[in-house]
Amino acid sequence: MPHSSVSHLTQALADGAAHVIDLTQPLSETTPVLVLPEPFANTPHLSRRTLSKFDDAGPAWAWDVLELGEHTGTHLDAPIHWITGREREDVASIPPERLVGPIRVIDKTSEVASDPGYLLTAADLDAHEAEFGHVSPGSWILFRTGWGARATDEAAFLNAGKSGPVTPGPDVSGARWLAEHPHVVGFGVETVGIDAGAAGGFDPPFPVHNFLLGAGRYGLTQLANLEALPAVGGMLVVAPLKLVGGTGSPSRVLAFI
Ligand code: MN
Repeated sequence: MPHSSVSHLTQALADGAAHVIDLTQPLSETTPVLVLPEPFANTPHLSRRTLSKFDDAGPAWAWDVLELGEHTGTHLDAPIHWITGREREDVASIPPERLVGPIRVIDKTSEVASDPGYLLTAADLDAHEAEFGHVSPGSWILFRTGWGARATDEAAFLNAGKSGPVTPGPDVSGARWLAEHPHVVGFGVETVGIDAGAAGGFDPPFPVHNFLLGAGRYGLTQLANLEALPAVGGMLVVAPLKLVGGTGSPSRVLAFI
């Protein structure tokens, strides 16, 4: 019998005591992307062009060329994505140890059901630690809102009205809490971005981007299946492209529970 810690995990996966949960939304031409107002540039949806498909250009093989943004679909935000983190890590420089870590799930699904613009506060995060214990080193905080149920309907997912998008996210106090907590490595959400829809009007604007990326930590967006995770006890694996100079990358995101 194997005795190493990793062998215990592989054995637990083999005998069904542990499971892999896919936290990634499907990536296709219909995957929703962020929409910024004029005069800002916007990221494209995924598109692809066929190089060959079992034809004269490649009789036995099929392959495509992709166009997509660094921030299209389920993706990681690297510190250099934001002006406050511009001297910090690109995607390729993130130590792999930081891409694997304990998961904390903070669940505000019922609050968001009645208030889609719900703001996660420092008091909410303190209450989570009071209930479930202190966040352990290397942790990723995942904000469960139920928003993933909208992921196949771009209008419902972006939820933009005349006064801008209405989606949940941290307020300034919550953003500061995440960036200053000594054990938080990253923050993940079900929505299109790590900040609330209204965050362009906060002081500072987009405080999660501002504080978290400025502190050399990471964001994760458009996560799926958070309802399958326990509040404490899961392990996250984030696999972005090792993109040199990359400000972000579409990522496969897995959890072990
Ligand atoms: Mn992003």
